[in-house]
Amino acid sequence: MYKRILLKLSGEALKGNAEGLYCYETVDAICDAVKKCLDDGIEVAIVVGAGNIWRGGRADRQMDRCTADQMGMLGTAINTLCLKDAFARIGVEARVMTAMDLGFAEHLDRDRAVRHLKKGRVVLFGGGTGAPFFSTDTAAVLRGKEIGADALLFAKNVDGIYTADPKKDPTAKKLPRISYARILKDQLKAIDLTAAAFGGDYGLKILVFGLDDPENIYKIASGAAPGTVIENED
Ligand code: UDP
Repeated sequence: MYKRILLKLSGEALKGNAEGLYCYETVDAICDAVKKCLDDGIEVAIVVGAGNIWRGGRADRQMDRCTADQMGMLGTAINTLCLKDAFARIGVEARVMTAMDLGFAEHLDRDRAVRHLKKGRVVLFGGGTGAPFFSTDTAAVLRGKEIGADALLFAKNVDGIYTADPKKDPTAKKLPRISYARILKDQLKAIDLTAAAFGGDYGLKILVFGLDDPENIYKIASGAAPGTVIENED
């Protein structure tokens, strides 16, 4: 069992198959699984993406990339508020901390974040890294390192990292373990390459698993084997 985890959720994970921005059933199931972690004494911080709302890199090419990315960062903040609200409904205290000032969220403060975690509150990091051209995968490894998380849980829509896209190639095999060096060398799309470079430099451990069953969050945080472990080679 881990003591402190950083959970990375993509924006798409909150959307599920719903028509609108959120599948509330999925959002509630994610929060229930996090509550089970808290009940077991596991501290939980979350970085969420904004793929259900906006991705800067996919904006109209006429749009300035920095502006498009700022819109994406605001999208991540919207998602943290959705999660905060869902946590409140099940009696879990959560704090939103953003890399940019919003007025109604706390400004990013690592020491304060750790104090919240120690009090059993969920910390929701919004706004990504606060800088354009980055992704929330990179924000996740950065915040995970800052708060001293002992594992980074990356929830995906596939249950691990494969040798090829399992949806397109039936011979694709799941890799129980992969090094950052291989991800970088083969330019694998499993995680953002900037995040992979950072994770490798700081020897972080990323546990990749499928969110098809949100309960997986609790299982992996409690020590169950994830789909794939990303770590440096010995
Ligand atoms: N973004 C950014 N800087 C960051 C993190 C995110 O500019 O540090 C913007 C970027 O436009 C990105 C969007 O926010 O496309 C949403 O983040 P991401 O694509 O990582 O979301 P996910 O795919 O995880 O839902």
